[in-house]
Amino acid sequence: MNPRKSVKSATNPRSAHPRCVVLGSGESGTGAALLAQHVGFEVFVSDKGGIKNEYKRELDTHGILWEENHHTLDKILNASEIIKSPGIPEKSEVMQAVRAKGINVIGEIEFGYRYAGKCRIVAITGSNGKTTTTELTHHLLKTAGLNVRMGGNVGNSFAAMVLDDLKAGQTKNDQRIFVLEISSFQLDDIQQFRPKIALLLNITPDHLDRYDYKLENYTRSKFRITLNQKRGDVFIFNGFDPVISSHGVTQSHPVTNSHPKRVVIRKGFFKNGHIRVGKTNDFDMTRGHLRGPHNMFNAACAIRTALLLGASPAKIQQGLDSFVPPPHRLEKVAVVKGVTYINDSKATNVDSVFYALQAMETPTVWIVGGQDKGNDYGPLLALVKKKVKAIVCMGIDNSKIISVFKNFKKPITETRSAEEAVKAAAGFAEQGDTVLLSPACASFDLFKNYEDRGAQFKQAVLLMMSYE
Ligand code: ADP
Repeated sequence: MNPRKSVKSATNPRSAHPRCVVLGSGESGTGAALLAQHVGFEVFVSDKGGIKNEYKRELDTHGILWEENHHTLDKILNASEIIKSPGIPEKSEVMQAVRAKGINVIGEIEFGYRYAGKCRIVAITGSNGKTTTTELTHHLLKTAGLNVRMGGNVGNSFAAMVLDDLKAGQTKNDQRIFVLEISSFQLDDIQQFRPKIALLLNITPDHLDRYDYKLENYTRSKFRITLNQKRGDVFIFNGFDPVISSHGVTQSHPVTNSHPKRVVIRKGFFKNGHIRVGKTNDFDMTRGHLRGPHNMFNAACAIRTALLLGASPAKIQQGLDSFVPPPHRLEKVAVVKGVTYINDSKATNVDSVFYALQAMETPTVWIVGGQDKGNDYGPLLALVKKKVKAIVCMGIDNSKIISVFKNFKKPITETRSAEEAVKAAAGFAEQGDTVLLSPACASFDLFKNYEDRGAQFKQAVLLMMSYE
């Protein structure tokens, strides 16, 4: 690991209490604020939106000052360092003022890393599959009896976990492993962060509004996961992802400019329900709950990581068999009157629907729609033609979906709630079919978020089941 900066070298050495301002107070901002206070900063938290009550209580308990619904620049621009939440864009007024003042800005991941001490970090990024791969990797390592925790963009903030270790005097314990899900926004705000193992799953257009609408900028951001990797570290990446491969050949050093060992997951690793790793290791994927080629790829990445960290193949197989995938991702809800209902509410972009449809093994009634993110449905046409028997739109404005798919002459109907959508889908489905909620859109037109959409879908299916 790199030597980490101390508080003094990172801030004004003459000040007894260097001032750290945390912008944005969600899970990561609150974790960073508590850690910053613990290591000796005077901390102030500022959020342009509202702060959840649970976080307010945490900050109050620790005597950390905060403001919500606005940023008071006078209280921000006197910081020696700023920790910025990943949701805050560079174009925002507050960030422009901070940049003009030349204050050092980092993210919570970088801040946590400074104080993490001796540990091994697995960092996982990509456009799709991060949460699944993070949870699976964590599960495999835990099943193997290793000292591992999980967080970052999912669940606990990294800073909060590091704070726990500091308090418990654990930061010299080099057996600790952190498996961290890392978004591109979080990678934009790292400086020294150096994972022992970095995983890049795939790159498809997403969040381009934050990257000047250039895929190249988003790609560069994803590759920052290798920024500080050196010899002895490992970079695992998708060898059949066209964007990752083309980034590799356009650079002076293939794939990444740093020098970790490269592990490429190539096509052909998965055959007859088995994942083959190296010459001798063979893992049976038919016994567990993961389905679809995309999940086999995620599993191959997790298996490689677990082997590198010393888990035995037998323990890995045990972990694969017992892993329960996170909800809202190709989650089997129930079988009602011989029809299987699947909740893939987390599929908020076209790419993830592509993989969901690819994984369907019986005629499918597809529930799609919501808030359009500038979708290009072109990549789905062949799959919809082949696998979908009827389309149920679930959204306020379904005109784009209808105009793209109407030429297939398959039944299409419009609904405005999960309950209506499930009823309509049940009307189209026959015994042996599948009803798949895989919306390709954001959920905010009808629901609070994708979890709410998935929960309402499940509830509607279970309600129908109770009438059966
Ligand atoms: P993320 O955390 O990157 O959003 P998730 O694991 O939550 O990824 O999965 C999000 C959606 O992407 C789900 O609908 C899932 O079926 C799909 N997905 C999962 N893994 C992959 C993959 N490797 N490639 C493409 N799509 C995937």
